Amino acid sequence: MYRYEMHMHTGESSKCGVTPGKEYIEIFKSRGYDGIFITDHFYHGNTRPERSLPWDEYVNAYCRGYEEAKAEGDKQNFKVFFGIEENFEGDEYLIYGVDKEWLLAHPEIRNWTREEMYNLVHAHGGCVIQAHPFRDRNYITKIHLGLDYCDGIEAVNTGNKPVEDYIALAYAKKFGLFTITGSDTHHKSRISDSNGAIAYEKPIESTYDFAKRVLAKDQPALLFPADRLENLTAKVMLPVVIFENGQREVEEAEVLSWCREARYEVEEKRVKHIVCFKLKNPSEVNCRTAADVLRSMKGKVEMLEDIQVGVDFLHSGRSYDVVLEVVVKDKAALEAYQNHPYHVDVVKKFMHEARESSVSMDYYI
Ligand SMILES: [Zn+2]
Ligand SMILES: [Zn+2]
Repeated sequence: MYRYEMHMHTGESSKCGVTPGKEYIEIFKSRGYDGIFITDHFYHGNTRPERSLPWDEYVNAYCRGYEEAKAEGDKQNFKVFFGIEENFEGDEYLIYGVDKEWLLAHPEIRNWTREEMYNLVHAHGGCVIQAHPFRDRNYITKIHLGLDYCDGIEAVNTGNKPVEDYIALAYAKKFGLFTITGSDTHHKSRISDSNGAIAYEKPIESTYDFAKRVLAKDQPALLFPADRLENLTAKVMLPVVIFENGQREVEEAEVLSWCREARYEVEEKRVKHIVCFKLKNPSEVNCRTAADVLRSMKGKVEMLEDIQVGVDFLHSGRSYDVVLEVVVKDKAALEAYQNHPYHVDVVKKFMHEARESSVSMDYYI
């Protein structure tokens, strides 16, 4: 098997890159890799060259990290391939099967959209792979899944959190996506046995050769530490938007259903049920009695994971008198609670009699 690093950055061309391109060669070579793809941050991402430069100067500066690495690779008989990482709204795409000449010939890509990127790259025989699709960082406000604009995803990115890979793999299974693994290396000191890579039985000849394999769905083996996906629970922290024949919001429940279908552990959301009561006669003793009746469910109504009861002290115009808050495992447990004999025969009976009105609210926590 031939092993390749698919996603990495150089100090010359990525603002967040630290290690000069040529310093990577010896390290990856000694670790048994057969080649690396340099994928520096491009024009809309964390790119190093000034965007105000004339296009040819920008492209020359952008390609420097790759060229330095390639020159050293040639000296050491080690393959170095060209790639790009482009950014839109925090969603980033790895592009393979293009080169410097192609960049120089397309200054219009300074303003490209995701769709234009996809079409232009494809017209050249290249491919687009969405990098770390479920990345959750402070600069990202929404997860954008570019299903319409990519040929596959980086399902495992060992430079990011394992739980993000967990969901990405479920997403890939759901939509039958081509997948790769990368490390997102920015610094040589971070290269370790935990780095993700891909492997093929036949060596990759060029960035165009790899793009062809992607378009032909010639799926490589994904290499990453065996314990990376152990003991994880899928949860969705950010709103999700998917570009799939248009654009739509994806409910968290839908993302979790992809994870369940992939037989992955999913964080089950518990339900909080709150009721505020206004009593017919809110004397102190009546409020306390009502509170005691509500509290008496503790230990008797077994589906209650938590119960809190409170009596209002402010007595403002909008105040209610007594509040009940309970937590149950899920929506089914809430229904079971509503029908529990003690709840129905004792508590509800008493509260219906004592209350003037009530309001309630149920939500997932
Ligand atoms: Zn970076
Ligand atoms: Zn990256």
